[in-house]
Parts: sequence; C-alpha cells; structure tokens
Amino acid sequence: MTLDTPAVQTPATDSTSAALYRLNGVTRTYSQKGREVTALVGVDLEIEAGDFVTIQGPTGGGKSTLLQLLGALDRPSTGSVHLGELDIATADNRRLGRIRAHEIGFVFQGFNLIPTLTASENVDMALEPLRLPATERAERVSDALRRVGLAERADHRPGELSGGQQQRVAIARAIVKRPRVLLADEPTGNLDESMRDEILGVLQRLNDDGLTLIMVTHDSAVARRARRRLRLEKGVVRDITR
Ligand code: ADP
Ligand code: MG
Repeated sequence: MTLDTPAVQTPATDSTSAALYRLNGVTRTYSQKGREVTALVGVDLEIEAGDFVTIQGPTGGGKSTLLQLLGALDRPSTGSVHLGELDIATADNRRLGRIRAHEIGFVFQGFNLIPTLTASENVDMALEPLRLPATERAERVSDALRRVGLAERADHRPGELSGGQQQRVAIARAIVKRPRVLLADEPTGNLDESMRDEILGVLQRLNDDGLTLIMVTHDSAVARRARRRLRLEKGVVRDITR
C-alpha cells in the first residue's frame, strides 16, 4: 500500500483479521423428496484461533450441517465459509480434500475405528495422505497416543478397549495430522458420565495446548466448559455465552 492510499479502504474486518473461520451470509438448503429444507439461514459467524466453542440446540437445528461446512465436507448453498484465506464455498474438490487431510481433525459420536487394526494402526491411517518419512510417522503416532493418555494401549484392538478409550484413539487419529482445528460432533454422546468426563479432560488439555476446538453437544454440563457457547435452532445461530 502506498502512503497516499486513503485509509478508508482498509477496514479492520478485512481478510487480515485473526479469525480462523469467517462465515458470511451462509445458507444451506437440501431438497428432500422435491421439497426444499433449509438447514442454515443467513449465518454470519467468526471463530478465533485457539477458542473452545460449543454448539447446542434441538435435533434438526442445523448443527451437523454447520460442522460439515466447517470441516470442508460440504459447501454452502449461498454465502462464504473462509478458513483462513480459503473460501470453502468456491475451492475445488482437490483443494478441499487436501485441507481435510492436513488441517481439520474430525471426531464423531460413533468412534469409527477399524476393528481389525490396533490403536497405533488406526491412528497411523490418518497420516497416509501426508507422505511423511516412516520414522516421523511413527513418532507422530506415539506422540498422539501419549497426548490422549493411551501410550500403553498402542497395540490393543478396539474390541479390547472401553468406549472412552476407543474415543481417545479416535481423538488421537484426528490430531496426529496436527490440524488447525478439531471438530467434534457429539463426541461424548455414546459414553456414560465417567467416560464423558475422561474425554472432556482430554479435549480440554488439547485446547489448553492451543488447538481450536469446536464441539456439538446436547449436554449443558459439557457446554459449560466452553469459552464460547453457540445455540443453533431452525438454522439460526445465536451466541449464548454468559
Ligand atoms: P442437527 O445436527 O442439529 O440435528 P442437521 O444439520 O443434521 O441438524 O439437519 C438440519 C436439517 O437439514 C434437518 O431438517 C435435516 O432433515 C436436514 N438435512 C440434513 N442433512 C440432510 C441431507 N443430507 N439431505 C436432506 N436433508 C438434510
Ligand atoms: Mg446432528
């Protein structure tokens, strides 16, 4: 920029802002048997790097739809979804695939582990697309299992682990790529209270270490741990942080 460029041309909210995500005017409509269903309506939202955000709201409110957009698994019908400089709405499929492989960790309610593979092998799978040297790969796998407190279970298969331990393997698989953000859709939904607290402790520590965490939950006890709480109802996002 030259000195004589008028300052009014550079508002503080342009692409130089520190937000990890910036959503503007996002709608997502689906067609169900010829009928239009609106899952998200005019969502404007910024999420900062390092934040811990929960998304609550009734079934059908649009939570999973929003998470899929943040995860570059889907595109909005209208509007833009910026992850840093990249607009997920307009990026091509190859680019979105690379973003998912490198920058976004996903954890689901069902752990989605491969039953015939050990914990280490399940975690290692996420490194396949990164083409790392074998030694770095092995280091990253053991580091990820250590961070979720499962180093001593590395050789166990999912069937030999509790639900909480299986979800910890799934979290290790999500963080082993060293993503910019961890997206979790009801990660404690299948767990009893003590396992829920075990998983929350792991997620909280990862956030304390700097990982951005965005989590859908039905559970107010879970949401109270967040720094920022969003509510999504009938496709409309409200900030309910107190
Ligand atoms: P939540 O996760 O809050 O329960 P969803 O995002 O799954 O909500 O769904 C929001 C709305 O979008 C619902 O009306 C749902 O039926 C609809 N919907 C979600 N995914 C699809 C899809 N793939 N095809 C058609 N309709 C969908
Ligand atoms: Mg859902």
